[in-house]
Amino acid sequence: MASHMPGTVEEQLRAAAMDQQRMSALAAWTARTLRTQNPRPFGASLVHTLTGKTLVCALNSVRQRRDPSAHAELLAIRLAAKRLNRVSLEGYTLYTTCEPCPMCMSAALWSSVERVVFGATIEDANRHCRQILIPAAEVAARSEMHCVVDGPVLRDECYALFTHPRTLRVLRQWPGRICGS
Ligand SMILES: [Zn+2]
Repeated sequence: MASHMPGTVEEQLRAAAMDQQRMSALAAWTARTLRTQNPRPFGASLVHTLTGKTLVCALNSVRQRRDPSAHAELLAIRLAAKRLNRVSLEGYTLYTTCEPCPMCMSAALWSSVERVVFGATIEDANRHCRQILIPAAEVAARSEMHCVVDGPVLRDECYALFTHPRTLRVLRQWPGRICGS
C-alpha cells in the first residue's frame, strides 16, 4: 500500500516540490473566483499521483446549487468517478485549498483516493465559517480504508483566499462566524 512513499531524501524533496506545484496551481485556479461575483476560497482537484495529470477541478458550490453537500472535494470526487466511469479513484491524489471536513474526508476514503493534500487547515477556515472540528487525519485513522493525509502545504497562499477582502465580504453572509472578529 505504501509503495508510493518516496524513499530517499531526494525523492522526498521532489515529492514535496510536486505537491507545492500542484497546490499552487489549484490556489491560482481557485483565486480566479476572486474576480467574479462569487468569490470562493474552497477549491479541489484530483490529480493522477504518478503522471501529475489533473483529472478534474471543482469549487465549493453550496449556494449556487442550493446543495449543502456541494463542497469542492465532494464535487471533484463525484465528477472524477463519473469521468472515469468507476467508483474507485485509486492512484489519484486529492488536492484541496482547505483541509477536508469529515464529510469530504469520508468521501475520499469511500472512493479509495490514495492521498489527500490540503492547504489551509480546518482551524484557519473556522475563523471565517462554521466547521466540524475533526481533523482529516483523524477521520482517516479511524476508518478501515487507507489514505495518506498530508498538509498543510502552501498554507499561507491558500489561507490568503479566505482573507481576501472580496472573500471576506461574501463569507460575512455565511452562517456562523463573523469575519474579522
Ligand atoms: Zn467538506
